[in-house]
Amino acid sequence: MSIKTNQNYKNLEKNYLFANIAKKVNAYSAAHPDQKIIRLGIGDVTLPLSKSVIEAMHKAVDEMSQQATFRGYAPECGYDFACKAIQKHYLERGVELALDEIFVSDGAKSDCGNITDIFGDNDILIPDPVYPVYMDSNIMCGRKTTLLKATQENGFLPMPDAIEEKKSYIIYICSPNNPTGAVYNKDQLKQWVDYANETESVIIFDSAYEKYIHGDYPHSIYEIEGSKTCAIEIDSLSKTAGFTGTRMGWTIVPHELICDGDELNPMWNRRQSTKFNGTAYIIQRAGEAALSEQGMKECEQSIAYYMENAKLIADVLTEKGIWFTGGISSPYIWLKCPNNMKSWEFFDYLLNELQIVGTPGAGFGSQGEGYFRLTAFGSREATKEAVERLRKAL
Ligand code: PLP
Repeated sequence: MSIKTNQNYKNLEKNYLFANIAKKVNAYSAAHPDQKIIRLGIGDVTLPLSKSVIEAMHKAVDEMSQQATFRGYAPECGYDFACKAIQKHYLERGVELALDEIFVSDGAKSDCGNITDIFGDNDILIPDPVYPVYMDSNIMCGRKTTLLKATQENGFLPMPDAIEEKKSYIIYICSPNNPTGAVYNKDQLKQWVDYANETESVIIFDSAYEKYIHGDYPHSIYEIEGSKTCAIEIDSLSKTAGFTGTRMGWTIVPHELICDGDELNPMWNRRQSTKFNGTAYIIQRAGEAALSEQGMKECEQSIAYYMENAKLIADVLTEKGIWFTGGISSPYIWLKCPNNMKSWEFFDYLLNELQIVGTPGAGFGSQGEGYFRLTAFGSREATKEAVERLRKAL
């Protein structure tokens, strides 16, 4: 075949982190079919969709069954009612957005990956460790990436003063952070916004875990003065409302954001209108319901349930003298592997000896080596059982 392929793919790790984990877990369970494995690895929710969401979906399904209310293609960038629900969600935090600055999507992962389409060949700044999609999607299009170390010493919150070469970058920020659970405060985010405006950088702010924030921290980058001239925000209902399998998210591109003389908002509109045919009507109605006052109350109940799981995990680690962080403004506990084990070594130990699946910190970047992520998204029963196994074994 003489067709050329994208050679940048050769620079990727062979498999996506969670595919590697699944392979190991499948091999273990095939060899030990009687063992009960507890999965606290992948960041997937377990509680069902809330009452308001289900009712809205049923209603929308009924509409689709009638000629008069049937809908075909959705507007590529979102129905007005969904954009209005998102607009109101931001307004409650004092953030004003125009409806055409809001782009409804099928989730944050797609948007995090697709946003590279509207940029040229820039230098990319990515914290390490972090959600792997930022790095992989930039490697796929051959961009030069620079890592910024997030360590125990800096509280897993790297700041602009750690940048070696002060210049213009596309800067990824994930707050609260996956996997470390670290969350930037207002002053820290202001420093990032000031850096971006000064150097003509663009921040891509991933706020997928904003609903887990406990305490006085910004939920949106737009709570920071000056951010509309330098930041895009990506959010989703996956972790907020249990939409991991339902799929709805959004990206905000403010009109004030101008790069190289080009307004990014119409470019993202053009990108989405060309390559995306909209999120399903039924799902956007579900999202609207999740964002309603009652819907948000229901989300908070589910989040409180997960955070009680986090506390159970945190308590056993404290009891055993194992260093950890997270579990307060995020559903993840980020722990230091006991006995100086490496991340994959601890993964193998937990799987083979305790039949618990977690996520090796090294899978989120080299600075994650020696650390490990446990999620609070399991059921209470499974979390309690995992905690008991840890209590006996560690
Ligand atoms: N951003 C972060 C930081 C995540 O951890 C995840 C999922 O785990 C996503 C985005 C993807 O979310 P979605 O389900 O909306 O694609």
